[in-house]
Amino acid sequence: MKLSTRLLRWYDKEGRDLPWRKTRDPYRILVSEMMLQQTQVDRVKIFYRAWLKRFPTWKSLARGSNAQVIRAWAGLGYNRRALALRDIAREVVHLGVPKTEEEWRKLKGIGAYTAAAVSIFAQNKKTLPVDTNVRRVLGRLLLDKPYPQSSVYLPLRAKGSILLGETNRHADLVQALFDLASSHCTKIPDCAACPLRSVCPAGAKFLAGRVKTPRRMMPKPRERIRQGKKYPDRIYRGRILRLVRETSRGVRLEGLGKRVDPAFEAERDTQWLLDMIYRLERDELVIMKHHKLYLS
Ligand code: SF4
Repeated sequence: MKLSTRLLRWYDKEGRDLPWRKTRDPYRILVSEMMLQQTQVDRVKIFYRAWLKRFPTWKSLARGSNAQVIRAWAGLGYNRRALALRDIAREVVHLGVPKTEEEWRKLKGIGAYTAAAVSIFAQNKKTLPVDTNVRRVLGRLLLDKPYPQSSVYLPLRAKGSILLGETNRHADLVQALFDLASSHCTKIPDCAACPLRSVCPAGAKFLAGRVKTPRRMMPKPRERIRQGKKYPDRIYRGRILRLVRETSRGVRLEGLGKRVDPAFEAERDTQWLLDMIYRLERDELVIMKHHKLYLS
């Protein structure tokens, strides 16, 4: 039996029921893809529906101000993505919906993975979006690499294209890979329970105990501590943004440090606070007026 047939049979029985799999609308697909960057699927499910109520179309999103889209994105983190999505909507309204992967790539804020994802999921193009999950699963299945690195990108695209050619259910095949990556073919895979174990060369190595987990795959401490502060500091930047989002009257700089971190010490931490504000301004998430912060 072909690999694609095995995968699709398993997917038809075990695939996840996700709202963005029920649509071919490029706008909805792009919203889901932008949300899924850096955010867990279960969280995205909640925010995806709310976002589509607030901004159901390219046009409605294109009209959104910075403050409106940042408020609607609240809770998803990495807020720059919300502004990038709005800017893409403005371009699409102006130029029309791209028809090819290359045209998607030309939009600022859309990289190789996202262009391929929208092309295959919305427009049924035969192309392979390679994120870390697809790379891991296909690197194991097709290239016999238990821990494939980014250098496998080109051979993977080539072999993946042959795999996609085995079926006309291109989108489902890639969704099946995502699901296998999340259910069995995780960083430390569960090969014994995997539906593809009988045809997977890397799986045979894992099952025989012949794979050593690379050091880079070992769990790492999530954050480093520097001068008493946790880094990366996106948690604190998220707190600043939440305070700014909650009021239209602006957040005074005075006293902000303690509100962001109760252990704030002016002498030691003021520069740290200002650096974070600078980065929020640079990302066009906040603006400073008369010593107060506002949504930009
Ligand atoms: S057998 Fe193991 S390595 Fe191969 S696809 Fe399944 S979980 Fe991944």
